This record gives sequence, C-alpha cells and structure tokens, in this order.
Amino acid sequence: MIHLAGKFGLVTGIANKRSISWAIAKALARDGARLGLTYQGERLLENVQELAAELDRPLILPCDVTSDEQIAEVYRTIEREFGGLDYLVHGTAFAPREELARPFVETSREGFRVALDVSAYSLIALSRGAAPMMAARGGGSILTLTYLGAERVFTNYNVMGVAKAALESSVRYLADGLGPQNIRVNAISAGPIKTLAASGISGFSGILQVYRDRSPLRRNIDIDEVGETGRFLLGPESSAITGEIVMVDAGYHAMGM
Ligand code: NAD
Repeated sequence: MIHLAGKFGLVTGIANKRSISWAIAKALARDGARLGLTYQGERLLENVQELAAELDRPLILPCDVTSDEQIAEVYRTIEREFGGLDYLVHGTAFAPREELARPFVETSREGFRVALDVSAYSLIALSRGAAPMMAARGGGSILTLTYLGAERVFTNYNVMGVAKAALESSVRYLADGLGPQNIRVNAISAGPIKTLAASGISGFSGILQVYRDRSPLRRNIDIDEVGETGRFLLGPESSAITGEIVMVDAGYHAMGM
C-alpha cells in the first residue's frame, strides 16, 4: 500500500526500537510517507540514526521539546527540506523518576512543572509550529499518546497521570482550535508496553500482569497494534475523527473489577 505517498510527517519521541513512536513511524513509512524524526540529545542520536536507515530519505533533527528555539528550528528545516507537513506524532513524556515512586502528595513543584511541560505543553508548542504548514496543504493530522492513568489511579503513575489528563484535555481544545483548518487532533490511550519510559514507573511489570489477567482479550498489547491504529488515526480513513482518545488496551478500560 502506498496511499500516503507524497505525504510528510514529523515524528517525535523515538528513543530506541521499542519506542511507540517508532512503531507509528514504521507504519507511516510503509504506506509511503516521508518522515522527519527528532531525537532528544546527542546520547539518542545514534539509536535514531540506526533506525532511520530503514526509512526512505528521512530527516533526523535534534529537538528537546522544552526548547522553543529547537522546535522553531525543526519546523524551519521541515519547511526547507519537505516544503510542507501533513502529520505530527507527539510521543514525548517525562517525569523525574522520584516522582513515580513516592506518595503522590509528596509531588514537588519542580517535578510537576517538568512533567506537565515535557508531557503536555509540548503538544501545544509542536502543534502551533505544525499548523501553518498543514493548513497550507489543506489540512493535517496530529496524534499523541496517553494512558488510562489520566482518568483512573494507578499506583506510582502519580504526576504522569495529571500530565496525561492535561494532555487529553489539550487534544480536545486543539481539535476545536485547529478544526476549521481541517487539522485533526487525536490521542491513542495505549495499554502498558515495556519501553524506556515505562521502566521509570515502579511496579510496571505488576501492571502488565493485571492487564494479562483482567482485560477482555486476556493479553497485553503489541507495539505494532499501536502503530497500525496510529497510521489509521493520522491517515485519510479517519477523516471525520478528531478530539478523540482511542483506547488500544485489549479492552482493559471497559472492566469494572
Ligand atoms: P520511550 O521512552 O520510548 O519514549 C519517550 C520519548 O520521550 C523518548 O524518545 C524521549 O527521548 C522523549 N523525551 C523525553 N523528554 C523529552 C524532551 N525534553 N524533549 C524531547 N523528547 C523527550 O517510551 P514510550 O513508552 O514509547 O513513550 C511514548 C509515549 O507513549 C509517551 O507519551 C508515553 O507516556 C506514552 N505511553 C506509553 C505507554 C507504555 O506503557 N509504554 C502506555 C501508554 C502511553
């Protein structure tokens, strides 16, 4: 299938081959989209370069999402090299490790600020940069990644849950603000997957086990299942879907006990 040929995407949040953003990038590239991949800091450059070798002429760009200057430079490069943008994948999240291991009431002001900045505000900043280029092409599609911890309490998810609640609300406000330019904004709420970010959450393997035991499908999800849903939500098949949080979690969210 090459029905995304001639489309351009920017994918943030790739740390290694287990990153959810990488699964989405592969699905987009397989359908013909050309991609820009960002990396956070020099220590991740080599990983991203290695993965990028599997793609067709990708751009590889540094971007720490806490820096407005780096975000602006990413879009200047995209404009120069691609001349436009159709898709944005927002896959960045971070909270200081100590915030994910102690009682929530001990959340520090600085930990809260960092978690909300990197995990939620960055969607707004990245969308603002992407929107003019998308609008110039008649529309576009933005996708972020969230977790059920936005709505329900998961032990130790703590301030990340608060950040995901802000992120999900931002999806709805952005969808309304950018909808008139035919730019859609959605999120995938993924079930737990062993990734670098997940390794920061104490007791994460216990969460995986609970999903295996209690989700309707009685299993954990595969990263490529998120990749495929991501491609769907970005691509033309989902043209009437915006402001939505799509659960890709083997049905776990539907359960009471
Ligand atoms: P990951 O560690 O592979 O990806 C997180 C990415 O965030 C990394 O690439 C990291 O470099 C980037 N990042 C952190 N701080 C940054 C900064 N200041 N600037 C730029 N980039 C920064 O882990 P992942 O699990 O693939 O996470 C991707 C998204 O999926 C996150 O939003 C995460 O919360 C979400 N998510 C993960 C799970 C899971 O179980 N793994 C479940 C639901 C949602």
